Order: sequence, then C-alpha cells, then structure tokens
Amino acid sequence: MGILDGKFVLVAGVTLDTSIGFAVAKFAQEQGATVLISNFGQALRITRRIAKRLPAEAPVLELDVTDPEHLAGLPAQVREHLGEDARLDGVVHSIAYGNPETLLGGKFLDGPWDDVAQAVQVSAYSLKSLTMACRPLLGDGSSVVGLTFDASVAWPVYDWMGVAKAGLESCSRYLARDLGPEGIRVNLVSAGPLRTLAAKAIPGFEDLETMWKTRAPLGWDNADQEPTARAVCALLSDLFPATTGEILHVDGGFHAMGA
Ligand code: NAP
Repeated sequence: MGILDGKFVLVAGVTLDTSIGFAVAKFAQEQGATVLISNFGQALRITRRIAKRLPAEAPVLELDVTDPEHLAGLPAQVREHLGEDARLDGVVHSIAYGNPETLLGGKFLDGPWDDVAQAVQVSAYSLKSLTMACRPLLGDGSSVVGLTFDASVAWPVYDWMGVAKAGLESCSRYLARDLGPEGIRVNLVSAGPLRTLAAKAIPGFEDLETMWKTRAPLGWDNADQEPTARAVCALLSDLFPATTGEILHVDGGFHAMGA
C-alpha cells in the first residue's frame, strides 16, 4: 500500500528526467497516485517524450503559468483526462525562471526591473496563479507543495532568484492562511543544490555545490532528486494533516549549520 493510493496529483514543471518534478511524478506513481504533468512552449514536445519514462506514462498538459488562458482552461484540461467529476488531491509547483544573463551569477546590483518582474511572476506569483486555477478541483484534504531554495539568507550567485524565492515563501504562507479554512494545505520543500536544467543555467552554481559538499552533515548527492521527491510526496499525503505554511528542508542538514 502506498502513501498516495487513490490520490490524483498534478505536477507542474517537468521538462527532463532530471527535473525535480519528474522525480516527484515517479515517486508519486510508485506510491499509488494517478499523476498528470505539465510544461509549456517548445519544451512540451520533450516533456511528452519524457512522460513515457515514468512507471506509467502520464498525460501532459500545456500550462504556461503566465498565460491567463492556460490558467483558466486548466480545470477543463484535467477533466479531459480524469473525467467530469475530477478532483485534485495534490498540486506540485516545480517552476522557476530568472534570466541567467541579467539576474544571476553576481548581477544583483544591475538586475533590470523587466527581468526581475518576469522572475517574480514565474517563480513566486505563479504559486498563487496555479493554486487558484486548480481551486475548483481542490477540497478538504488537498495539498499544494512548491519548491524553494532557502531564501532566509543571501547566497553567492543566486541573486534575484533569491528575492523571487523569498516572495514564493511568503506567498505560500498567505495561501496557507486563506485556503486553510477550506482544508487545503500549502507547504514548500527547501532543497539543496540539484543538477537540473534550471540549476545548470545559473552561472557559478558550482560554488553552491562546493559549499554543500563541505558543510552538509548528512552529505549531499547533487544528482539524486529522490530525497526531495519523497518529502514532496509526504507533504502531499495524509501523513501531515495539520501542517501548513511550513518549509521543510531537504538539504542534508546544511541549513542548521553555522559554518
Ligand atoms: P527544471 O527541471 O528546469 O524545472 C523548472 C521547470 O519550470 C521547467 O519545467 C520549466 O520549463 C518550468 N517553467 C519555467 N517557466 C515556466 C512557465 N512560465 N510556465 C510553466 N512552467 C515554466 O529545474 P528544477 O531544478 O527541477 O526546478 C524545479 C523547482 O525546484 C524550481 O522551483 C526550482 O527553483 C526549485 N529548486 C531547485 C533546486 C536545484 O538546485 N535544482 C534547489 C531548490 C529548489 P522549461 O524547461 O520549458 O523552461
């Protein structure tokens, strides 16, 4: 018996099989969930190929979280696959974008507003957009989980994505406040550095990886998305019925060390 038996889960933000979202979709299926995945634009073709590598091929929905039409049409897309009385027990937000040329890798003092606005919209505001788009399908016991990189401190190279993540972390707490009365939980998993497409685009990402190698008391494998995926699935499950507005660290213990 799996911890997600009989549950329906949407994982938004799967491009390659290195995506954290892919590992979440895989573990969720292994735990008994029916999973839908989404991506947008040209990478959609890649996602459709990658979906076949899951234990059970998952339907791929088209969702650009900045496109109001995609957001408005999301419940209909879900119903196409899960039927007219479809519900979502879980929604995973595994989405971020910040222009690596202008916002990351030591460009903090020069980051232009248009690019910052895009990063905040895609990486923070979209937790609200995605959750509200799914709201007609959510109900008592549903769980929303997003991914952050600890935004309580400033990091080398992370720059404006750190600011966007701070927005995401705050956004999840306000969503938890406003959706708690409907029985909907909203939590984040704060992962250590993992070698995904998004991470490799960050100039100087190796600096973060080196820090984790020397400081995480449990050690840290930057090519293993599964510990993060397991934590996301635990938060999606009924194992955390009274937890919301929380940030769960999956970082080998790095966040708890002073040096
Ligand atoms: P990833 O595989 O590149 O996943 C990011 C996803 O966001 C991609 O599928 C990307 O699609 C999608 N996306 C970007 N803009 C979008 C938009 N407008 N609408 C819908 N989807 C959009 O990288 P990842 O590392 O797994 O990232 C997943 C989440 O984990 C992100 O929130 C990231 O910040 C977070 N996280 C990552 C790490 C790490 O070290 N990797 C650590 C902590 C937290 P395209 O590929 O088509 O652009």
